[in-house]
Amino acid sequence: MILIINCGSSSLKYQLYTPDLAQVVASGMIAKIGEPEGYIDHFVGHRGEHHRCPVPNHRAAFALMMEYLQSPEYHVIECPRAITAIGHRAVHGGSVFFGSVLVDDAVMKALHECASYAPLHNPCNIIGIEEAQRMFPGTPNVVVFDTAFHQTIPARAHMYALPYELTQEHGIRRYGFHGTSCRYVSQRAADLLNRPIESLSMVVCHLGNGVTMDAVKGGQSIDTSIGFGTFGGVPMGTRAGDFDPAIIFHLVKDRGMSLEEVEEICYKKSGLLGLSGLSNDMREVSEAAAKGNARCQLAVDVFVYHIRKTIGAYAAAMGGLDALVFTAGIGENSAEIRAKVCEGLGFLGVEIDPRANEIARKGHPNISAISARAATLVVPTDEEKMIAIDTVQLTMAQPGAASVQMGHAPSTHGVAAS
Ligand code: ADP
Repeated sequence: MILIINCGSSSLKYQLYTPDLAQVVASGMIAKIGEPEGYIDHFVGHRGEHHRCPVPNHRAAFALMMEYLQSPEYHVIECPRAITAIGHRAVHGGSVFFGSVLVDDAVMKALHECASYAPLHNPCNIIGIEEAQRMFPGTPNVVVFDTAFHQTIPARAHMYALPYELTQEHGIRRYGFHGTSCRYVSQRAADLLNRPIESLSMVVCHLGNGVTMDAVKGGQSIDTSIGFGTFGGVPMGTRAGDFDPAIIFHLVKDRGMSLEEVEEICYKKSGLLGLSGLSNDMREVSEAAAKGNARCQLAVDVFVYHIRKTIGAYAAAMGGLDALVFTAGIGENSAEIRAKVCEGLGFLGVEIDPRANEIARKGHPNISAISARAATLVVPTDEEKMIAIDTVQLTMAQPGAASVQMGHAPSTHGVAAS
Protein backbone atom coordinates (compact mmCIF):
# COMPACT_ATOMS: atom_id res chain seq x y z
CA MET A 1 0.00 0.00 0.00
CA ILE A 2 1.05 3.60 -0.57
CA LEU A 3 1.11 6.01 2.37
CA ILE A 4 0.91 9.76 1.75
CA ILE A 5 2.00 12.12 4.50
CA ASN A 6 1.45 15.86 4.71
CA CYS A 7 3.20 17.23 7.77
CA GLY A 8 2.10 20.87 8.15
CA SER A 9 3.10 23.44 10.75
CA SER A 10 0.55 22.24 13.32
CA SER A 11 -1.04 19.22 11.68
CA LEU A 12 -0.26 15.86 10.13
CA LYS A 13 -2.57 14.56 7.38
CA TYR A 14 -2.31 11.04 5.99
CA GLN A 15 -3.91 8.90 3.30
CA LEU A 16 -3.37 5.24 2.62
CA TYR A 17 -3.98 4.03 -0.95
CA THR A 18 -4.19 0.60 -2.51
CA PRO A 19 -1.08 -0.04 -4.69
CA ASP A 20 -2.99 0.82 -7.90
CA LEU A 21 -4.27 4.05 -6.28
CA ALA A 22 -7.83 3.02 -7.10
CA GLN A 23 -9.00 3.33 -3.51
CA VAL A 24 -8.26 5.27 -0.33
CA VAL A 25 -8.12 2.62 2.40
CA ALA A 26 -7.72 4.99 5.35
CA SER A 27 -7.18 8.67 5.93
CA GLY A 28 -6.91 11.05 8.81
CA MET A 29 -5.66 14.23 10.32
CA ILE A 30 -3.91 14.97 13.58
CA ALA A 31 -4.44 18.64 14.38
CA LYS A 32 -3.35 21.28 16.90
CA ILE A 33 0.02 19.62 17.41
CA GLY A 34 1.81 21.28 20.33
CA GLU A 35 -1.44 22.67 21.78
CA PRO A 36 -3.39 21.29 24.75
CA GLU A 37 -6.54 20.63 22.70
CA GLY A 38 -4.97 18.34 20.04
CA TYR A 39 -7.04 15.66 18.33
CA ILE A 40 -7.06 12.95 15.68
CA ASP A 41 -9.74 12.32 13.05
CA HIS A 42 -9.31 8.83 11.60
CA PHE A 43 -11.41 7.41 8.74
CA VAL A 44 -11.61 3.89 7.35
CA GLY A 45 -14.29 3.40 4.72
CA HIS A 46 -17.49 4.81 6.16
CA ARG A 47 -16.25 4.58 9.75
CA GLY A 48 -14.75 7.62 11.41
CA GLU A 49 -13.42 8.44 14.84
CA HIS A 50 -12.69 11.76 16.52
CA HIS A 51 -10.41 11.42 19.52
CA ARG A 52 -9.12 14.30 21.60
CA CYS A 53 -5.61 13.97 23.01
CA PRO A 54 -2.74 16.41 23.42
CA VAL A 55 -0.07 15.72 20.78
CA PRO A 56 3.15 17.38 21.97
CA ASN A 57 5.09 17.34 18.68
CA HIS A 58 5.24 15.96 15.14
CA ARG A 59 7.11 12.82 16.20
CA ALA A 60 4.31 12.02 18.66
CA ALA A 61 1.80 12.71 15.87
CA PHE A 62 3.57 10.21 13.62
CA ALA A 63 3.48 7.58 16.40
CA LEU A 64 -0.25 8.24 16.91
CA MET A 65 -0.93 7.77 13.20
CA MET A 66 0.96 4.45 13.31
CA GLU A 67 -1.06 3.35 16.32
CA TYR A 68 -4.32 3.99 14.46
CA LEU A 69 -3.13 2.44 11.18
CA GLN A 70 -2.07 -0.72 13.03
CA SER A 71 -5.01 -0.82 15.43
CA PRO A 72 -6.67 -4.28 15.33
CA GLU A 73 -10.01 -2.50 15.51
CA TYR A 74 -9.69 -1.19 11.94
CA HIS A 75 -7.57 -3.94 10.32
CA VAL A 76 -5.84 -1.42 8.05
CA ILE A 77 -2.27 -2.74 8.18
CA GLU A 78 -0.81 -5.51 10.32
CA CYS A 79 2.78 -4.33 10.23
CA PRO A 80 4.88 -1.54 8.68
CA ARG A 81 5.98 -3.90 5.87
CA ALA A 82 2.49 -3.54 4.35
CA ILE A 83 3.54 -0.08 3.19
CA THR A 84 5.54 -0.34 -0.05
CA ALA A 85 6.20 3.37 -0.67
CA ILE A 86 5.66 6.66 1.12
CA GLY A 87 5.02 10.03 -0.50
CA HIS A 88 5.57 13.29 1.34
CA ARG A 89 4.44 16.80 0.63
CA ALA A 90 7.13 19.45 0.99
CA VAL A 91 6.25 23.11 0.73
CA HIS A 92 9.48 24.58 -0.58
CA GLY A 93 12.02 23.10 -2.94
CA GLY A 94 13.87 26.37 -3.56
CA SER A 95 15.52 26.49 -6.97
CA VAL A 96 16.99 23.04 -6.36
CA PHE A 97 14.01 20.78 -7.01
CA PHE A 98 12.32 20.90 -10.42
CA GLY A 99 10.21 17.85 -9.74
CA SER A 100 9.44 15.07 -7.31
CA VAL A 101 12.37 12.98 -6.12
CA LEU A 102 13.22 9.72 -4.38
CA VAL A 103 14.68 10.58 -0.98
CA ASP A 104 18.37 9.91 -0.41
CA ASP A 105 21.06 11.60 1.70
CA ALA A 106 21.71 14.31 -0.92
CA VAL A 107 17.99 15.12 -1.09
CA MET A 108 17.78 15.38 2.71
CA LYS A 109 20.76 17.74 2.74
CA ALA A 110 19.22 19.94 0.04
CA LEU A 111 15.89 19.91 1.89
CA HIS A 112 17.58 21.21 5.04
CA GLU A 113 19.18 23.95 2.94
CA CYS A 114 15.75 25.02 1.58
CA ALA A 115 14.22 25.16 5.07
CA SER A 116 14.92 28.86 5.56
CA TYR A 117 12.54 29.70 2.66
CA ALA A 118 9.59 28.13 4.50
CA PRO A 119 10.58 28.15 8.18
CA LEU A 120 7.10 27.19 9.40
CA HIS A 121 6.61 24.28 7.02
CA ASN A 122 9.80 22.71 5.67
CA PRO A 123 11.20 21.65 9.09
CA CYS A 124 7.93 19.79 9.78
CA ASN A 125 8.06 18.16 6.32
CA ILE A 126 11.61 17.00 7.16
CA ILE A 127 10.49 15.46 10.47
CA GLY A 128 7.79 13.53 8.59
CA ILE A 129 10.41 12.04 6.27
CA GLU A 130 12.82 11.23 9.12
CA GLU A 131 10.07 9.47 11.08
CA ALA A 132 9.01 7.54 7.99
CA GLN A 133 12.61 6.42 7.46
CA ARG A 134 12.80 5.32 11.10
CA MET A 135 9.43 3.53 11.25
CA PHE A 136 9.60 1.97 7.76
CA PRO A 137 13.26 1.04 7.27
CA GLY A 138 14.04 0.09 3.67
CA THR A 139 10.78 1.52 2.30
CA PRO A 140 11.32 4.16 -0.42
CA ASN A 141 10.25 7.73 0.33
CA VAL A 142 9.33 10.26 -2.35
CA VAL A 143 9.05 13.98 -1.79
CA VAL A 144 6.76 16.20 -3.87
CA PHE A 145 7.27 19.97 -3.75
CA ASP A 146 4.61 22.69 -3.89
CA THR A 147 7.10 24.94 -5.65
CA ALA A 148 8.34 22.44 -8.28
CA PHE A 149 5.56 22.95 -10.85
CA HIS A 150 6.42 26.65 -11.03
CA GLN A 151 10.09 26.12 -11.85
CA THR A 152 9.16 26.42 -15.55
CA ILE A 153 8.17 30.07 -15.07
CA PRO A 154 10.50 32.11 -17.32
CA ALA A 155 12.88 34.68 -15.84
CA ARG A 156 10.81 37.62 -17.09
CA ALA A 157 7.99 36.44 -14.82
CA HIS A 158 9.88 35.01 -11.85
CA MET A 159 12.49 37.77 -11.48
CA TYR A 160 11.77 40.79 -9.29
CA ALA A 161 13.25 44.06 -10.56
CA LEU A 162 15.59 44.29 -7.57
CA PRO A 163 19.37 44.48 -7.95
CA TYR A 164 20.32 41.34 -9.86
CA GLU A 165 23.22 40.43 -7.55
CA LEU A 166 20.98 40.70 -4.49
CA THR A 167 18.39 38.33 -5.96
CA GLN A 168 21.07 35.81 -6.91
CA GLU A 169 22.91 35.99 -3.60
CA HIS A 170 19.78 35.53 -1.48
CA GLY A 171 17.70 33.25 -3.71
CA ILE A 172 15.05 35.93 -4.20
CA ARG A 173 12.54 35.14 -6.97
CA ARG A 174 8.92 34.20 -7.49
CA TYR A 175 8.68 30.57 -6.32
CA GLY A 176 4.90 30.10 -6.25
CA PHE A 177 2.88 27.64 -4.19
CA HIS A 178 -0.03 25.18 -4.56
CA GLY A 179 1.92 23.74 -7.51
CA THR A 180 0.82 20.16 -6.79
CA SER A 181 -2.82 21.25 -6.86
CA CYS A 182 -2.37 23.30 -10.06
CA ARG A 183 -0.60 20.39 -11.77
CA TYR A 184 -3.32 17.92 -10.82
CA VAL A 185 -6.18 20.24 -11.72
CA SER A 186 -4.73 21.36 -15.06
CA GLN A 187 -4.24 17.73 -16.12
CA ARG A 188 -7.76 16.82 -15.05
CA ALA A 189 -9.13 19.81 -16.95
CA ALA A 190 -7.34 18.72 -20.15
CA ASP A 191 -8.72 15.20 -19.69
CA LEU A 192 -12.24 16.51 -19.13
CA LEU A 193 -11.99 18.63 -22.27
CA ASN A 194 -10.54 15.63 -24.09
CA ARG A 195 -7.76 17.79 -25.48
CA PRO A 196 -3.98 17.40 -25.17
CA ILE A 197 -2.70 19.62 -22.37
CA GLU A 198 0.10 20.76 -24.71
CA SER A 199 -2.50 22.60 -26.83
CA LEU A 200 -4.17 24.51 -23.99
CA SER A 201 -3.76 27.91 -22.34
CA MET A 202 -5.46 27.76 -18.95
CA VAL A 203 -5.87 29.91 -15.89
CA VAL A 204 -6.20 27.85 -12.72
CA CYS A 205 -7.92 29.65 -9.83
CA HIS A 206 -7.02 27.75 -6.64
CA LEU A 207 -9.30 29.64 -4.26
CA GLY A 208 -9.03 28.35 -0.69
CA ASN A 209 -7.83 29.96 2.51
CA GLY A 210 -4.66 30.41 0.52
CA VAL A 211 -5.18 31.61 -3.05
CA THR A 212 -3.02 30.83 -6.07
CA MET A 213 -3.74 32.01 -9.59
CA ASP A 214 -1.70 30.12 -12.15
CA ALA A 215 -1.16 30.58 -15.88
CA VAL A 216 -0.65 27.12 -17.37
CA LYS A 217 0.37 27.10 -21.04
CA GLY A 218 1.02 23.79 -22.78
CA GLY A 219 0.95 22.03 -19.40
CA GLN A 220 3.64 24.27 -17.91
CA SER A 221 3.25 26.96 -15.30
CA ILE A 222 4.38 30.21 -16.92
CA ASP A 223 3.29 32.66 -14.22
CA THR A 224 1.74 32.45 -10.78
CA SER A 225 0.39 34.90 -8.23
CA ILE A 226 2.09 33.92 -4.97
CA GLY A 227 5.68 35.06 -4.94
CA PHE A 228 8.76 34.63 -2.76
CA GLY A 229 6.90 33.80 0.45
CA THR A 230 3.35 32.54 0.91
CA PHE A 231 1.98 36.02 0.73
CA GLY A 232 1.66 37.76 -2.64
CA GLY A 233 -1.01 37.85 -5.32
CA VAL A 234 -4.73 37.94 -4.64
CA PRO A 235 -6.07 38.73 -1.12
CA MET A 236 -6.58 35.52 0.88
CA GLY A 237 -8.35 34.50 4.10
CA THR A 238 -6.01 36.45 6.39
CA ARG A 239 -3.17 37.46 4.03
CA ALA A 240 -3.19 40.77 2.17
CA GLY A 241 -1.77 39.59 -1.14
CA ASP A 242 0.06 42.17 -3.27
CA PHE A 243 0.33 45.67 -1.90
CA ASP A 244 2.82 48.50 -2.19
CA PRO A 245 5.82 47.72 0.09
CA ALA A 246 6.02 51.48 0.79
CA ILE A 247 3.15 50.84 3.24
CA ILE A 248 5.48 48.71 5.38
CA PHE A 249 8.16 51.45 5.45
CA HIS A 250 5.49 54.01 6.31
CA LEU A 251 4.04 51.99 9.19
CA VAL A 252 7.46 51.15 10.64
CA LYS A 253 9.40 54.39 10.06
CA ASP A 254 6.66 57.03 10.30
CA ARG A 255 4.02 55.38 12.49
CA GLY A 256 6.27 53.61 15.00
CA MET A 257 5.02 50.07 14.50
CA SER A 258 7.46 47.22 14.92
CA LEU A 259 8.32 45.01 11.96
CA GLU A 260 6.84 42.04 13.85
CA GLU A 261 3.54 43.88 14.31
CA VAL A 262 3.35 44.71 10.62
CA GLU A 263 4.25 41.14 9.67
CA GLU A 264 1.49 39.82 11.94
CA ILE A 265 -1.00 42.24 10.34
CA CYS A 266 0.00 41.33 6.79
CA TYR A 267 -0.14 37.56 7.28
CA LYS A 268 -2.82 37.09 9.93
CA LYS A 269 -5.09 40.12 10.11
CA SER A 270 -5.56 41.12 6.49
CA GLY A 271 -7.33 39.64 3.47
CA LEU A 272 -11.02 38.74 3.90
CA LEU A 273 -10.68 39.03 7.68
CA GLY A 274 -9.04 42.44 7.61
CA LEU A 275 -11.45 43.95 5.10
CA SER A 276 -14.65 42.46 6.53
CA GLY A 277 -13.73 42.73 10.21
CA LEU A 278 -15.83 39.57 10.59
CA SER A 279 -14.12 36.41 9.37
CA ASN A 280 -11.50 34.86 7.13
CA ASP A 281 -14.09 32.30 6.03
CA MET A 282 -15.70 33.06 2.67
CA ARG A 283 -18.96 31.36 3.65
CA GLU A 284 -19.45 33.71 6.59
CA VAL A 285 -18.28 36.77 4.66
CA SER A 286 -20.56 36.15 1.67
CA GLU A 287 -23.56 35.31 3.86
CA ALA A 288 -23.12 38.59 5.76
CA ALA A 289 -22.59 40.45 2.47
CA ALA A 290 -25.90 39.05 1.17
CA LYS A 291 -27.61 40.41 4.29
CA GLY A 292 -26.29 43.88 3.55
CA ASN A 293 -23.07 44.07 5.62
CA ALA A 294 -21.14 46.75 3.69
CA ARG A 295 -17.65 45.73 4.88
CA CYS A 296 -18.31 42.13 3.84
CA GLN A 297 -19.60 43.32 0.46
CA LEU A 298 -16.36 45.27 0.08
CA ALA A 299 -14.27 42.20 1.02
CA VAL A 300 -16.03 40.08 -1.63
CA ASP A 301 -15.68 42.88 -4.22
CA VAL A 302 -11.95 43.26 -3.61
CA PHE A 303 -11.41 39.47 -3.67
CA VAL A 304 -13.33 39.02 -6.93
CA TYR A 305 -11.80 42.09 -8.60
CA HIS A 306 -8.23 40.89 -8.05
CA ILE A 307 -9.04 37.43 -9.37
CA ARG A 308 -10.69 38.84 -12.49
CA LYS A 309 -7.82 41.26 -13.08
CA THR A 310 -5.29 38.41 -12.78
CA ILE A 311 -7.23 36.26 -15.27
CA GLY A 312 -6.97 39.12 -17.79
CA ALA A 313 -3.27 39.56 -17.10
CA TYR A 314 -2.58 35.84 -17.55
CA ALA A 315 -4.63 35.65 -20.74
CA ALA A 316 -2.39 38.45 -22.05
CA ALA A 317 0.75 36.61 -20.85
CA MET A 318 -0.37 33.41 -22.65
CA GLY A 319 -1.70 35.15 -25.76
CA GLY A 320 -5.20 33.73 -25.24
CA LEU A 321 -7.38 31.62 -23.02
CA ASP A 322 -8.83 28.17 -23.72
CA ALA A 323 -9.94 27.26 -20.21
CA LEU A 324 -10.65 28.82 -16.85
CA VAL A 325 -10.51 26.30 -14.01
CA PHE A 326 -11.86 26.77 -10.49
CA THR A 327 -10.67 24.63 -7.59
CA ALA A 328 -10.19 24.45 -3.77
CA GLY A 329 -12.73 25.35 -1.04
CA ILE A 330 -14.14 28.55 -2.56
CA GLY A 331 -13.52 27.65 -6.21
CA GLU A 332 -15.25 24.27 -5.87
CA ASN A 333 -18.14 25.29 -3.62
CA SER A 334 -19.13 28.88 -4.25
CA ALA A 335 -21.30 29.31 -7.35
CA GLU A 336 -21.70 32.93 -6.33
CA ILE A 337 -17.98 33.76 -6.39
CA ARG A 338 -17.51 31.86 -9.68
CA ALA A 339 -20.35 33.83 -11.26
CA LYS A 340 -18.98 37.14 -9.97
CA VAL A 341 -15.46 36.37 -11.22
CA CYS A 342 -16.73 35.43 -14.71
CA GLU A 343 -18.92 38.52 -15.03
CA GLY A 344 -17.51 40.79 -17.73
CA LEU A 345 -15.01 38.23 -19.03
CA GLY A 346 -16.99 37.74 -22.25
CA PHE A 347 -14.25 39.57 -24.17
CA LEU A 348 -12.00 36.58 -23.37
CA GLY A 349 -14.66 34.11 -24.51
CA VAL A 350 -15.66 33.23 -20.92
CA GLU A 351 -19.41 32.79 -20.49
CA ILE A 352 -20.97 30.50 -17.95
CA ASP A 353 -24.32 28.75 -17.87
CA PRO A 354 -25.96 29.85 -14.60
CA ARG A 355 -27.74 26.53 -14.07
CA ALA A 356 -24.62 24.48 -14.79
CA ASN A 357 -22.74 26.74 -12.37
CA GLU A 358 -25.24 25.93 -9.59
CA ILE A 359 -24.85 22.16 -9.99
CA ALA A 360 -21.13 22.11 -10.77
CA ARG A 361 -20.28 20.10 -7.67
CA LYS A 362 -22.63 17.28 -8.60
CA GLY A 363 -20.52 15.75 -11.34
CA HIS A 364 -20.99 18.53 -13.92
CA PRO A 365 -17.53 20.07 -14.15
CA ASN A 366 -18.10 22.04 -17.37
CA ILE A 367 -20.09 25.16 -16.54
CA SER A 368 -19.55 27.01 -19.83
CA ALA A 369 -22.44 28.43 -21.82
CA ILE A 370 -22.89 26.86 -25.27
CA SER A 371 -21.75 30.10 -26.92
CA ALA A 372 -18.55 30.35 -24.84
CA ARG A 373 -15.25 30.36 -26.74
CA ALA A 374 -13.26 29.44 -23.61
CA ALA A 375 -14.30 26.56 -21.33
CA THR A 376 -14.99 27.18 -17.65
CA LEU A 377 -14.55 24.14 -15.42
CA VAL A 378 -14.92 23.27 -11.74
CA VAL A 379 -12.37 20.60 -10.87
CA PRO A 380 -11.97 19.31 -7.30
CA THR A 381 -8.31 19.31 -6.37
CA ASP A 382 -6.60 16.22 -4.99
CA GLU A 383 -3.04 16.97 -3.96
CA GLU A 384 -2.70 13.64 -2.15
CA LYS A 385 -3.57 11.73 -5.32
CA MET A 386 -0.99 13.72 -7.27
CA ILE A 387 1.64 12.92 -4.62
CA ALA A 388 0.59 9.26 -4.73
CA ILE A 389 0.90 9.18 -8.54
CA ASP A 390 4.44 10.62 -8.38
CA THR A 391 5.31 8.22 -5.56
CA VAL A 392 4.26 5.16 -7.54
CA GLN A 393 5.96 6.40 -10.72
CA LEU A 394 9.26 7.03 -8.96
CA THR A 395 9.20 3.76 -7.05
CA MET A 396 7.85 1.63 -9.91
CA ALA A 397 11.06 -0.37 -10.05
CA GLN A 398 10.82 -1.14 -6.34
CA PRO A 399 9.50 -4.57 -5.35
CA GLY A 400 5.83 -4.52 -4.40
CA ALA A 401 4.91 -1.44 -6.43
CA ALA A 402 2.05 -2.13 -8.84
CA SER A 403 0.80 -0.20 -11.83
CA VAL A 404 -1.28 2.88 -11.18
CA GLN A 405 -4.96 3.37 -11.88
CA MET A 406 -5.31 7.07 -12.39
CA GLY A 407 -8.55 7.58 -14.22
CA HIS A 408 -6.70 10.17 -16.24
CA ALA A 409 -3.43 10.64 -18.04
CA PRO A 410 -0.38 10.10 -15.86
CA SER A 411 1.98 12.95 -15.29
CA THR A 412 5.55 12.87 -16.34
CA HIS A 413 5.76 16.60 -15.93
CA GLY A 414 7.39 17.54 -12.70
CA VAL A 415 8.72 14.08 -11.98
CA ALA A 416 12.47 14.14 -12.08
CA ALA A 417 15.11 11.76 -10.94
CA SER A 418 17.06 12.85 -7.90
P1 ADP B 1 -7.13 25.65 2.66
O1 ADP B 1 -6.90 24.23 2.17
O2 ADP B 1 -6.32 26.69 1.94
O3 ADP B 1 -7.12 25.80 4.15
P2 ADP B 1 -9.80 25.26 1.55
O4 ADP B 1 -9.43 24.88 0.16
O5 ADP B 1 -10.34 24.20 2.45
O6 ADP B 1 -8.63 26.04 2.26
O7 ADP B 1 -10.88 26.45 1.44
C1 ADP B 1 -11.37 27.09 2.55
C2 ADP B 1 -12.27 28.22 2.08
O8 ADP B 1 -13.33 27.66 1.30
C3 ADP B 1 -12.92 28.98 3.23
O9 ADP B 1 -12.88 30.37 2.97
C4 ADP B 1 -14.37 28.50 3.17
O10 ADP B 1 -15.28 29.45 3.62
C5 ADP B 1 -14.52 28.30 1.67
N1 ADP B 1 -15.72 27.50 1.37
C6 ADP B 1 -15.96 26.21 1.61
N2 ADP B 1 -17.22 25.89 1.23
C7 ADP B 1 -17.79 27.03 0.75
C8 ADP B 1 -19.07 27.36 0.20
N3 ADP B 1 -20.03 26.47 0.09
N4 ADP B 1 -19.27 28.65 -0.17
C9 ADP B 1 -18.31 29.59 -0.05
N5 ADP B 1 -17.08 29.33 0.45
C10 ADP B 1 -16.83 28.08 0.84
